[in-house]
Amino acid sequence: MLKGKTALVTGSTSGIGLGIAKALAAQGANIVLNGFGDVEGPKAEVAALGVQVSYHGADMSKPAEIAAMIEHATTTFGGVDILVNNAGIQHVARVENFPIEKWDAIIAINMSSAFHATRLALPGMQAKNWGRIINVASVHGLVGSAEKSAYVAAKHGVVGLTKVTALENATTGVTCNAICPGWVLTPLVQKQVDAKAAARGISNADATKQLLGEKEPSMQFTTPEELGALAVFFCSPAGDNVRGVAWNMDGGWTAQ
Ligand code: NAD
Repeated sequence: MLKGKTALVTGSTSGIGLGIAKALAAQGANIVLNGFGDVEGPKAEVAALGVQVSYHGADMSKPAEIAAMIEHATTTFGGVDILVNNAGIQHVARVENFPIEKWDAIIAINMSSAFHATRLALPGMQAKNWGRIINVASVHGLVGSAEKSAYVAAKHGVVGLTKVTALENATTGVTCNAICPGWVLTPLVQKQVDAKAAARGISNADATKQLLGEKEPSMQFTTPEELGALAVFFCSPAGDNVRGVAWNMDGGWTAQ
């Protein structure tokens, strides 16, 4: 379905981003990966799906590096047809104790990076009259949780940016939508499970059960594969008139 298209997925060396990159590659899209840590493993996983894959190591907190990454996608594959703004980090502390540098980093990586990549990818999409911008927000773009001020502020911001980008392009073939996952067992969440186990003196399995039980009625993690399938739907012809939604996949978290 996506043969001949190019998808740039930020923060795709791990977790949800890698899951979405693989789902889009399985539909034939060439992929530009981005993120820190091991690169060769994720590259091989995507290449095994029979598409071309490239990598750019832009730090998503740095607008100049984001510009260089979009330029890299353009010179390598001729442009960005599908932009998935996914890179993100977390820090947990009460507002009065929240380190200023963590606030700034979360706002930059989880929110402002989506603006920078979107503003640079849009003109190419508008010229082709086809494009998909998918912002990986969170249930925390819809509701709050204690000790996550920067993350919740950034994700609400991403949902707002999604709506405005969708509206500004509503008469074109360019759509913009957000995905709002509940708990997904990636390294970002594993850290929170480990912290809970340590703080409460309980096993990892019990900490996992408590984490799910506090928020997610299904008592199940959403998977990167399920989120990848939703991204593929947004890119399908059935998604042509889906514009500005914040679609939760959260085991009932926000239904409560
Ligand atoms: P993860 O830690 O597995 O992956 C994060 C990715 O972002 C990695 O590839 C990492 O290298 C990259 N990254 C981090 N800082 C970066 C930077 N400055 N520049 C470039 N890349 C950077 O986490 P994940 O759980 O897969 O999270 C992906 C997205 O999904 C995030 O935006 C997160 O907020 C969101 N999300 C996660 C969950 C969850 O439960 N895991 C739930 C809702 C939303």
